Amino acid sequence: MEMIYQSTRNAGEQVTASEAILKGLASDGGLFVPNEIPVFSIPFTRMAEMDYREVAFEVMRLFLTDFTSEELKHCIDKAYDQKFDVPEIVPLREVDDVHYLELFHGATIAFKDMALSILPHLLTAAAKKNNVKEEIVILTATSGDTGKAALAGFADVPGTRIIVFYPKDGVSPIQEKQMVTQRGANTTVVGIHGNFDDAQNGVKAIFNNKELAAAMREKGFRFSSANSINVGRLVPQIVYYVYAYTRLLAAGKLKEGERLNVVVPTGNFGNILAAYYAKCAGLPIGKLICASNDNKVLYDFFQSGTYDKNRDFILTTSPSMDILISSNLERLIYRVAGDDAKKNAQLMQALLKDGVYSVTDEMRERLADFYGGFATVKQTADTIRELYEKTGYVIDTHTAVATSVYHKYKEETGDNSVTVIASTASPYKFTRSVMTAIDSKYDAMGDFELVDELEKISNTKVPHAIEEIRNAQIVHKLVCDKDRMQQTVEEILGI
Ligand SMILES: *Cc1c(COP(=O)(O)O)cnc(C)c1O
Repeated sequence: MEMIYQSTRNAGEQVTASEAILKGLASDGGLFVPNEIPVFSIPFTRMAEMDYREVAFEVMRLFLTDFTSEELKHCIDKAYDQKFDVPEIVPLREVDDVHYLELFHGATIAFKDMALSILPHLLTAAAKKNNVKEEIVILTATSGDTGKAALAGFADVPGTRIIVFYPKDGVSPIQEKQMVTQRGANTTVVGIHGNFDDAQNGVKAIFNNKELAAAMREKGFRFSSANSINVGRLVPQIVYYVYAYTRLLAAGKLKEGERLNVVVPTGNFGNILAAYYAKCAGLPIGKLICASNDNKVLYDFFQSGTYDKNRDFILTTSPSMDILISSNLERLIYRVAGDDAKKNAQLMQALLKDGVYSVTDEMRERLADFYGGFATVKQTADTIRELYEKTGYVIDTHTAVATSVYHKYKEETGDNSVTVIASTASPYKFTRSVMTAIDSKYDAMGDFELVDELEKISNTKVPHAIEEIRNAQIVHKLVCDKDRMQQTVEEILGI
């Protein structure tokens, strides 16, 4: 059966999976959602015998039905190869009675590699399938990790260009260095004077500008998005929850049908939405524990049913979660509204106009699968130190937000279900925050000195992604004002 995707804001806009991947955002500004979530058709006990690539194929073929098996397998093989520094792609580590799903073994040592390794291949396959002749321009706003993962995925992929905007003062030094040293003739990186939401809003405005789209077409370009709103980002993320579940089955940690709780450090709500889709598709997931940092819009939303972005934006030690508008939440709102595009569109209109909306009691009841929690910067640091002192395992700041929230959840509910924490970044990516959390004596050391210290205390090897940037040349120096993003794009493309 062919899967149709439609806009969360207009039931009339319907496309195939490959078209949804090409377009990124629906033309009414909505997000593409499957009009029916498929159900896993083969038993999890069988998937427990498959490797990551085989599980990926079983999951993705259900959602991306207009790709042939050959096309999907080709994309999967290109994506999940030696770029990952472990053969299992996503190892599970049991530490302190919880399972860490290490999603950071790819090219840029953050979980966004999971989806961004495959997106360029899905996108070029989709372009071929739909007879797209124009060059695809990937336009991305990043709070740090998406940018580098997208750059690494798209660098020198024929038929594509990529332009990345990031908040100049809102990413870690290592994140910035990773981006501004990116090679590839088709890559551009721009720092903006503004925060991540400014960058994301700017990109959305450029996408929605119909005049610009026409001018682009004339020059042989078309936009697409690598942000986590793209269906080609969302679907590959469903895979690793199925993979985690089936590994735990194989190891005898879970019985068939037993429920697994997942804890996800959340920003744009893409990762946890993938876990929710996995649950809707039949994976036995219990609670979806949504962990926020001090920018706790989502925590407040799950507490009160009101989403209110009118508040100060707080820079934290988990910058990839410093977000006030979690774009992918719209897909959940649409679903709990009973797949009602009109109702969802009204709420999103209110968000745009007033920065706030409230859901009905009926909708709130449908959110019962979720538990919201948050951790402050201090709690995050304490969690890193305590876990290290107890076990020797070092986690990054984002993962630590999740661990902290997990402890609160367990204390509050007494729920002892088997639990997976999505470990979204390598501690090597946020070395300064991680090391100074462990001991203030590290304050005085330089960034790469800290890398070497981390290697010593954690008994892990410095990842290739870090070695690579130690001495790399800075090649991207462009900076612009937050309201000059469109002009900057036009200049880059010569429009
Ligand atoms: C992007 C990111 C997150 C947040 O993921 P979302 O899918 O946007 O909710 C969490 N941790 C890290 C390290 C990230 O890079």
